Amino acid sequence: MKIPFIDLKAQFRHLEERIRQSIDTVLDHGQFIMGPEVLELESQLAEFAGSRNAITCSSGTDALLMALMGKEVGRGDAVFTTPFTFIATAEVISLLGATPVFVDIDPQTFNVDPAKLDDAINSVKQEGKLKARGVIAVDIFGLPADYDRIAPIAEQHGLFVLEDAAQSFGAVYNGKRAGALGDVAATSFFPAKPLGCYGDGGAILTDDDELARMLRSIRVHGAGEDKYHNVRIGLNGRLDTIQAAILLQKLSVFQEELDLRQKVALQFTDAFEQWANHLALQSIPNGSRSAWAQYSLLSEHKKELCAALNEAGVPTAVYYPIPLHQQGAFAHLGYRRGDLPVSEHIAEQIFSIPMHPYLHDADIQNIVEVFNSYFND
Ligand SMILES: *Cc1c(COP(=O)(O)O)cnc(C)c1O
Repeated sequence: MKIPFIDLKAQFRHLEERIRQSIDTVLDHGQFIMGPEVLELESQLAEFAGSRNAITCSSGTDALLMALMGKEVGRGDAVFTTPFTFIATAEVISLLGATPVFVDIDPQTFNVDPAKLDDAINSVKQEGKLKARGVIAVDIFGLPADYDRIAPIAEQHGLFVLEDAAQSFGAVYNGKRAGALGDVAATSFFPAKPLGCYGDGGAILTDDDELARMLRSIRVHGAGEDKYHNVRIGLNGRLDTIQAAILLQKLSVFQEELDLRQKVALQFTDAFEQWANHLALQSIPNGSRSAWAQYSLLSEHKKELCAALNEAGVPTAVYYPIPLHQQGAFAHLGYRRGDLPVSEHIAEQIFSIPMHPYLHDADIQNIVEVFNSYFND
């Protein structure tokens, strides 16, 4: 039998009655835009992450975009980020006319390398063409970036830190939750993310009340006192009430699901230990707990392993096959092969195996067995 890569149906079976009921409640009250569920969700998200404000919005991409709009990023600005991420992270920088500056990653955590970040900021400052404005750190695969090292560098240079927590909502870093690790954070409720809805959705989190006020305005066409009094350029960036109602149900079991993900990840990690000569895993630093959006491995035998897994009914995926500095969309930035060698190397060797809270022990065993027989042969 084929194992699903992410089993959304298993979660739905678990929550079906409550989700159908909560959708019915919205159909009955009819406040489809900014209904009471949206406000309730914002208060619960802020509390969960330990942030003063949560502003829900239409997607993770819009959350990133709105956060940069709130920081008034524009033409002539440099925003530093990792090339080993989904296109949205850097796309929003370019959308606002600013320039993404890619900084290579740490080979163990796959997150931006703080030492290289400092170097990159210094060279942009020295060159003097762009104004260094901010950093977008990505919590790749659910593992928070190293904010205790990133924050002092950013502060020293006067830059803001935007946490791309699209994959990491629910993760922990040195006693704090993802979403509360930068000056402002963006997360995504795309269905396949650890906390997903049944459509597009996202949220911005920040302790900065003034920024939160601005973001609420940006979310509704730059509204001032009301919707028809517009004080800045904004967009239509709201989360639907029905999605908020679904998310409230999913949030109520989210911590249990995070614990189940952790259990699955530990079983994989224990089982792969014996193949340490052939497989490298994302290393999880002390004090960090991943939200396990993906369970990823590195191998020189990637192609053969993925073929063997697929043959056995185990789907695989590659996040991400092309680092952003090598994407056609950013060709105008003039990066060359070899500029960010760690990202390039990891993109070649990485692949992900099924990961979700409802993965049965038997499925885990079957997946591990494919690795065992591949390496035993
Ligand atoms: C999914 C994702 C996004 C975008 O989220 P959407 O809700 O799909 O717009 C941004 N950054 C990262 C790292 C992501 O994984």
